[in-house]
Amino acid sequence: MSVQHYFDTMEYGLAPEADKEVRAWLKTHADGFGHFIGGQWHSPHSGHYFEALEPGSGKKLGKIAQGSQEDVDLAVAAAKAALGPWQKLGGHGRARHLYALARMVQRHSRLFAVLESLDNGKPIREARDIDVPLVARHFYHHAGWAQIQESEFPDHSPIGVVGQIIPWNFPLLMLAWKIAPALAFGNTVVLKPAEFTPLTALLFAELAQKTGLPDGVLNIVTGDGATGALLVEHPDIDKIAFTGSTEVGRMLRERTAGTGKSLTLELGGKSPFIVFDDADLDGAIEGVVDAIWFNQGQVCCAGSRLLLQEGISERFIAKLKRRMETLRIGDPLDKTIDIGAIIAPVQLERIKKLVEKGVLEGAELYQPSGNLPASGSFYPPTLLTNVFASSTVAVEEIFGPVLVSMTFRTPDEAVMLANNSRYGLAASVWSETIGLALDIAPKLKAGVVWINATNLFDASVGFGGYRESGFGREGGKEGAYAYLKPTAWAKRKPRKPLPELPQAIEKKGGFEFPEIDRTAKLFIGGKQIRPDGNYVRPVLSPKGEVLGEVGEGNRKDIRNAVAAARSAEGWGKVTAHNRAQILYYWAENLSARSDDFAQTIAKMTGDSKTIARKEVQTSIRRLFTYAAWADKYEGIVHTPPLRGVALAMKEPLGIAGIICPNEAPLLGLISLVAPLVAMGNAVVVVPSEWHPLSATDLTQVLETSDIPAGVINIVTGESRALGKVLAEHDDVDAVWAFGSVELSAEVERFSIGNLKRTLVDQGLETDWYDPKAAEGPVFLSHAVEIKNIWIPYGE
Ligand code: NAD
Repeated sequence: MSVQHYFDTMEYGLAPEADKEVRAWLKTHADGFGHFIGGQWHSPHSGHYFEALEPGSGKKLGKIAQGSQEDVDLAVAAAKAALGPWQKLGGHGRARHLYALARMVQRHSRLFAVLESLDNGKPIREARDIDVPLVARHFYHHAGWAQIQESEFPDHSPIGVVGQIIPWNFPLLMLAWKIAPALAFGNTVVLKPAEFTPLTALLFAELAQKTGLPDGVLNIVTGDGATGALLVEHPDIDKIAFTGSTEVGRMLRERTAGTGKSLTLELGGKSPFIVFDDADLDGAIEGVVDAIWFNQGQVCCAGSRLLLQEGISERFIAKLKRRMETLRIGDPLDKTIDIGAIIAPVQLERIKKLVEKGVLEGAELYQPSGNLPASGSFYPPTLLTNVFASSTVAVEEIFGPVLVSMTFRTPDEAVMLANNSRYGLAASVWSETIGLALDIAPKLKAGVVWINATNLFDASVGFGGYRESGFGREGGKEGAYAYLKPTAWAKRKPRKPLPELPQAIEKKGGFEFPEIDRTAKLFIGGKQIRPDGNYVRPVLSPKGEVLGEVGEGNRKDIRNAVAAARSAEGWGKVTAHNRAQILYYWAENLSARSDDFAQTIAKMTGDSKTIARKEVQTSIRRLFTYAAWADKYEGIVHTPPLRGVALAMKEPLGIAGIICPNEAPLLGLISLVAPLVAMGNAVVVVPSEWHPLSATDLTQVLETSDIPAGVINIVTGESRALGKVLAEHDDVDAVWAFGSVELSAEVERFSIGNLKRTLVDQGLETDWYDPKAAEGPVFLSHAVEIKNIWIPYGE
């Protein structure tokens, strides 16, 4: 054979990684792995085991315990018992433990990498060079957060016992993303690994114990979805952190609704990979390889939708096909392969079916000519062209090595196509024109945007989605808040049950001048509008005097208000300075009418004039607070270990529905509306059900305060009924609901359609006068999405 031949074919022999140590470790557990609970190994209470299989060969790797109710109870109890001492240890003590875990991962990095590759089927190259180093980095980074927790998060406390459920695609990395921040910030954990890939979690537990991690701080219960469900339902779990499919995520949102459990969801994606005609095409080709064939495309943020500018499309596809011919598929432990095995036959079938469907719908299929290994679950790298935005393969997450390609003409069209998805996890933008790339990035609905790069991850940079890709961030300062709660909120007490509504006192006729009739309208799109149903509701004083009437808003009114809010989306692009000025102006105009407002509040609530005046003054102060924050609640620049930066930008959520509490009718409303509006959101507000007149009076103030039409819409009516409509509305991005326990539960439950963000009080009363509980970052953080834009640089 000539050198030229080798050069042309790039053929080379196998380079298998040794698996002796891993096999020896597996052998020591040949009788079956137990659950790791309270620092001990427990056989499954039910006596049931299932098998862990090697995707590359289908061979057995070990017997895994199936977790039952008793196992989950035991693990949660262990985590609960460890919570106090773990918190008492303090930030520095926890930092030492996290540091030890990071060192442990590094010391055993080869063992972890080989085991991961065997259990998951991913190429050893990736497990060794990407997964495991990122795991160690995550523990180092979070050791740091534990160390400086007290100074950096003085107003926050740990959440408590956290249940964590992870998928099979990055088993050890997802474990690290979950447990490092949870433990660092003083929570204890029960983690359930995916049933396909439990082994590295079990190895981790075994080695973590040897580092001296206190018993009960980390518990691992293995099992399938049923075990996960037990964890979710457990009453002593304070938070669920889930990574997995949108389908299961949605179910967890429903199951945890109204329980007071905190929830973060990292779900699926269908991420766009956008190549402009001035991109470095060879660089972009390598980007595509990484975007969709890394980990066999079983990556939540895989760049699975290739969007090419028309002028380069043909050339790019030809180059890509040539590159696909050179990808090597084979034994995951072979150091020379690019693509390993698909996790399981069932996933392989799913990929095949979706590709067949794509072809039936008219897509053109391209797969390179190489042979696949004879046994095991393998699927070739696949490209589908002639695909439309509505094709099944362009819409559904395939979670395999399948790329679909479409074209666009203009940057606007690229953005439209990119955002034409129910998901919003990640996006890649390729252009040598930095101005263009940086103009596109903020327009993409995605939690992560990579400029001229893809699949970059780091512990210092938050990762997570928009829309149906879930909520919450993992990594970085933004990720810390997933494991912390505002300390001031712990003081909240259940709202007292409302007294019975008084009987309305009938007006007596007479010859004196009657009061001028006062029927407040709804405020939609900057106009005062009659309610659709043409019904009104009386507003009563505590004694039953009729103080006025307000419109009885219905579903149609909410729909109109949402449409008005959507047309006011430009508010999000107004400069922060401008938003601040308008909030100040609002405060100024409210101040000019403060006596009127105090009088109305006193009449509605029966509060003394002094208290009512205090409410108005605090409302004005609160508007000042948010005018101040409008241009100061800024993003940060992360400096991950690469030549480049990641900009953590705070972006508005879009449209938020707000259900105001009955108490503090003006202050409650302003405390909820102002942070959302300051951050560039448009809102649909349902004011205090019992005391809505200070909200309807506010329309006159809003009309004179330069707030653009549609930014604030007010629909009066019944809180729970309108809360349900807002929660169910798929064009609403968030709902904040403050009121009864039932209201909170319903808003969370009905939010599952588009997985909107919710902020509810679970029927606990906020002290609206306490700035720590009622203003500032505790609310602002819920009024924004954080998008991380990665900008690598260099020649
Ligand atoms: P999955 O939702 O089927 O399973 C994920 C985990 O949830 C597993 O541990 C499973 O046992 C458990 N589970 C299943 N049903 C449950 C239930 N009813 N109650 C509680 N737990 C339950 O997802 P998967 O197939 O393992 O993983 C693939 C999905 O994960 C893809 O959609 C992918 O996009 C997503 N993912 C997202 C991210 C991210 O960070 N956004 C990262 C990796 C994977």
